[in-house]
Amino acid sequence: METLRAVKGMNDLFEDELATWRRVEEAARRTCSAFGYGEIRTPILEETALFVRGVGEETDIVTKEMYAFADGDKSVCLRPENTAGVVRAMVEHGKLPADADERVFYVGPMFRRERPQKGRYRQFHQLGAEALGFSSASVDVEMMAMIAAFLDALGVTGVKLLVNTLGDAAERGPYADALRAYFGQHEAELSEDSKRRLTTNVLRILDSKDPKDRALAQGAPRTLDHLGDASRAHFDAVTNGLARLGIPFVVEPTLVRGLDYYTRTVFEVVAEAGLGAQNTVAAGGRYDGLVQTLGGRPTPAVGFAAGIERLVLLLQDAGKAANATGPELYLIGADDDGRASAERLAYGLRRRGVRVEIDHRGRSVKAQMRGADRSAARFTMVLGSREIAGGAADLKRMAGGDVSRVALDVDALDVAMKGIA
Ligand code: ATP
Ligand code: MG
Repeated sequence: METLRAVKGMNDLFEDELATWRRVEEAARRTCSAFGYGEIRTPILEETALFVRGVGEETDIVTKEMYAFADGDKSVCLRPENTAGVVRAMVEHGKLPADADERVFYVGPMFRRERPQKGRYRQFHQLGAEALGFSSASVDVEMMAMIAAFLDALGVTGVKLLVNTLGDAAERGPYADALRAYFGQHEAELSEDSKRRLTTNVLRILDSKDPKDRALAQGAPRTLDHLGDASRAHFDAVTNGLARLGIPFVVEPTLVRGLDYYTRTVFEVVAEAGLGAQNTVAAGGRYDGLVQTLGGRPTPAVGFAAGIERLVLLLQDAGKAANATGPELYLIGADDDGRASAERLAYGLRRRGVRVEIDHRGRSVKAQMRGADRSAARFTMVLGSREIAGGAADLKRMAGGDVSRVALDVDALDVAMKGIA
């Protein structure tokens, strides 16, 4: 029969890798909670219109990457990102009345129909956070500090934080004009996509991954030269705030990000090596207009998202992947009485959360020993009629081989294992 395969660009994940995934997710949860962010979970399926309106009609995500299909008379899609969904949920549930603020984080799968390659998949996972209702630059700084603390807790090194400002919506128009004039002079050298962007969404050219576009972008006009006083002061407050906290950063004047909703501060954390062109591990920025665009009151906001697959790749490359751990104890049954006793003790210990293995295949003592070895158990214990009659057995520490006599009782075993380093 024809074998069935996973959908292209979508990965199966197994325990050996998931140990590192969990470490990433746990570090994110701990750090976000320390910074005052509560969790939010929103549906994976949303109305397509949410992203067309939220992310922007001329973005790569909306023009070519969405998994959309008809659901009755509506078009729905698998979410390509989560900021729009979070904002929709906040507005829908009335969480953003005047002067309200909300800080939330999320972890979950996103879907984009991109060309799969290392660090780029069609189902991938993001962890991210949104702070809604704050206009102060100190919240932009706090969000970057949260990312720095998270990466630190994980032990990720060799990354740098890039920051830029896009100015506000009013400054965007004249800046776009300046970009159009500049790229217009170089139209023949642009990629086909960017020729189109010249009329549809000129800022997107700065975010292009095409080498020709990237070379031209280096000489393009800079947002920094098109800022009004308020945006300039905001950006200065961001860079000063980062410096005050001792968070290293580089101002990157051509950084724009691939989503239309950003205003003012934008930032990226990029890996200096190892991920090739997929080197952005986290990215975000301020989006003061999005809540209103999605039908809410005007509410300033800032957020970020990080790609879990890329963080895991970085940890693996740096030799920092979590090792799969073995059981605490492998109980070996030497005969029928021993097996029965092993089952009973295992049940008691497992109910306390101690990881215990037993044999289910009627194997010989020698084969069970090999099984214990292969499982990398910390302790083993052989149980047979003799031990049961005596009410005690030898608890053997696998590393070192030292042995202690322990009563065949759940409490005694638990205490003994905890007492041995
Ligand atoms: P890139 O420039 O790499 O395409 P992006 O600008 O599309 O990234 P965002 O939409 O800002 O990325 O998403 C934030 C993060 O999510 C990225 O920095 C990256 O770590 C991760 N990410 C985005 N798309 C993918 C994907 N297809 N596969 C794996 N991770 C992804
Ligand atoms: Mg992308």
